[in-house]
Amino acid sequence: MTEARRFDIVIIGAGIAGSALAAALSGKGFAMALVEAQSLALPELPAPRDLQSFDPRVSAITPRSRQLLQEVGAWETVASYRLCPYRHMTVWDAEGTGGIDFDCADVNAQALGYIVENRAIVSALLAQVAASSDVTSFSEARLLDCVRHEATGTMRVALEDGAVLEADLVVAADGALSRVRDMMGFATREWDYGHRAIVTTVQVEQPHQDTCWQRFLASGPLAFLPLPGEPDRHYCSIVWSMRDELVDEVLALEERDFCCRLESAIEGRLGKVLHTAARFAFPLRQRHAVDYVQPGVALVADAAHTIHPLAGQGINLGLQDVAVLAEEILAGQSRGVRPGQLALLRRYQRRRKGENLLMMAAMDGFKALFEQQALPLRWLRNAGMRRVSQMGPLKQQLIRRAMGVG
Ligand SMILES: Cc1cc2nc3c(=O)[nH]c(=O)nc-3n(C[C@H](O)[C@H](O)[C@H](O)COP(=O)(O)OP(=O)(O)OC[C@H]3O[C@@H](n4cnc5c(N)ncnc54)[C@H](O)[C@@H]3O)c2cc1C
Repeated sequence: MTEARRFDIVIIGAGIAGSALAAALSGKGFAMALVEAQSLALPELPAPRDLQSFDPRVSAITPRSRQLLQEVGAWETVASYRLCPYRHMTVWDAEGTGGIDFDCADVNAQALGYIVENRAIVSALLAQVAASSDVTSFSEARLLDCVRHEATGTMRVALEDGAVLEADLVVAADGALSRVRDMMGFATREWDYGHRAIVTTVQVEQPHQDTCWQRFLASGPLAFLPLPGEPDRHYCSIVWSMRDELVDEVLALEERDFCCRLESAIEGRLGKVLHTAARFAFPLRQRHAVDYVQPGVALVADAAHTIHPLAGQGINLGLQDVAVLAEEILAGQSRGVRPGQLALLRRYQRRRKGENLLMMAAMDGFKALFEQQALPLRWLRNAGMRRVSQMGPLKQQLIRRAMGVG
């Protein structure tokens, strides 16, 4: 029988959330294991800014998340690679004349947020983790089993390569299809949006003006997110959510036809869509774990909740889970409480569940409102957007909430 290796905390999954938690707790006196199914070798980050060099997965990172990444020492690396601050956001309805503009000047901020390639964030976090001696990395290691030894309360994790790890606390940061969540029998409430999101990078004719452009079409929202470019070359990342039945047809279009379809969907606001990189489609599903914790187990980020990407809040909520869980673990440490203790984990759940649920409900409300085609509802939402646009304090409150500082 393989002898178990003993840790205080085992983190399953080294995406943004898992590697952020490892970085946040490193150097604080915990023996940690970070288990990742993919390679943990630091990815090569391509330097030239051309269409093919961008990661198709990007995130709109709020100032609050930037602060967390700064606190764990990763932000400088992210910023020295490349990112695009967005200073404006313009949202409008395809079925009417209503729209709303947000500007960082409205709240005396330098930026509303930052568009960052996901692999740049993970790479910066993993570099922090690699520099720490208290995190043991298990690269290309897949979780096989996770059980609680009821008599001792110890968690036991088996990996596919035969390694066995024991810990006080197992953190599930293994994403939307979390195996830990399933193995430990966490219940979820979930439903399919009936949407998939097409994601790609495009080159556009006109400068993006450091603006996130979002148009609500009857088939779903379309976002053009600004990327760093060159004086004569302008790039955007696209998140185009649409009903399932349309996705395969749009993915199959020739490049020229896809560009034309996209250009007309965004009403040519950035001139011609000149070129596109490879296209990918992600299924969109709302999912929320009824509980985030059990004795010795905590779910964070997408393992606990997934939401529609229309307001780019998924990983921002996930990073706040990470920040709060790390805070509670450290507060417990100062009182001599082990990290897997249920009372400690429940405090984490209490502090995070409300905010996550509120954001999920807001996203669902937006999506439902913009799908309504009945004339009175279309009129109401367009009038509503115009009205909010004119109401300074309400608009400022909305901006601050989206920035994570409300
Ligand atoms: C189209 C789209 C656009 C989005 N845009 C934004 C945005 O602008 N802003 C924003 O905040 N959010 C956005 N999101 C949401 C955001 O991408 C997710 O919330 C975020 O990636 C989740 O990070 P995570 O670390 O929880 O999970 P993941 O990124 O899924 O990482 C999980 C990790 O666990 C590993 N793993 C899985 N199973 C196992 C196993 N059995 N054993 C070992 N390792 C395992 C995986 O390999 C992976 O590395 C978007 C989502 C989509 C779909």
